[in-house]
Amino acid sequence: MDTKTEIRTETKDSTSLPADDYKKRDAIWPLVLFYIHMNILAIGGAYILLTSALWSTILFTTLLALLGILGVTVGVHRLWAHRTFTASAPLRLFLMLCQTTAGQGSIYSVVQAHRLHHQKFQQDADPFFSKQGFLFAQVRSGLFKYSSEQEQLLQEVDMTDLENDAIVMFQKRYYVVLYTVLNVLLSINTPFQYFGDSLSSSMLVGFWLRTLIVHNVGNLVHTSHFVWSIYKDFKPTDSNSIFFITKSYWPQYHYLLPQDYQSGEFGDYGSGLGAAVIRVFAALDWAKDLRTISSVAVRMGLTNAVETGRPIVECIQEQVQLEKNALPANHFLNREKFM
Ligand SMILES: [Zn+2]
Repeated sequence: MDTKTEIRTETKDSTSLPADDYKKRDAIWPLVLFYIHMNILAIGGAYILLTSALWSTILFTTLLALLGILGVTVGVHRLWAHRTFTASAPLRLFLMLCQTTAGQGSIYSVVQAHRLHHQKFQQDADPFFSKQGFLFAQVRSGLFKYSSEQEQLLQEVDMTDLENDAIVMFQKRYYVVLYTVLNVLLSINTPFQYFGDSLSSSMLVGFWLRTLIVHNVGNLVHTSHFVWSIYKDFKPTDSNSIFFITKSYWPQYHYLLPQDYQSGEFGDYGSGLGAAVIRVFAALDWAKDLRTISSVAVRMGLTNAVETGRPIVECIQEQVQLEKNALPANHFLNREKFM
């Protein structure tokens, strides 16, 4: 998993390649093998979880999985990819450690890919296949090298802000060591050595089952628009999953206006765990400058767009700038008013 980034972002002089080769993505076979193992061993983990795992192992693994997911959603997505708030060094360190336990690659590489995903959303060059179906995007995007075209586009993504973040660059440099200690050793050694659980339980539940869950939830950050978004041809009566999936327009909102800390990764707005965690850190003064967009600004922006014929996003952003100074610093405490 850890070498994925390096394999996928390799730069080549691709300008001379024929068109097909330029867009071609090859499978990363070690990752395909890892993926097959992960799925099989996680089934073993689920069996042990239900039959013989110790409660301490289950609770510890759940906590580690939750921290990994927070590292991806609050850390990689809302803080580093979209800059929806600023974070103090201790908070960035905490989120960096959490993100390392997710095993998705370094913060730098995931943010670079996510920014390209937004730039090329529903176009062929999107590394997360947003033009294809959910399973295609969810499974395949993690197992294929970037095409030469994508490698070139990735080099053009502005990453200056992350390059100036010592914590992100430290993690990028020592990712393999941090991954081994925080993701592999910590998750297996703790249940085995400190809780006295069996080696199979520690490995299959603590590492493989957790890796499967965090890997899939983490990938949803780029693919959840397939699951929770209402698209033009969506017919509610066709869906058997209506009881646990509430489709909304929030994913489209995120792709239109990503700089809003309340935008949830899984089709929600302002009500999820990620937004709550950011508000708690803001109350502690570890998170500052929380960026959000009020419905008044959206309405005014839309009105201006209709009246002037200018692009919608540009008009809304203009209103956001005007509103910025009027927004009290602690607006996150009164979210009714700023939704
Ligand atoms: Zn995003």
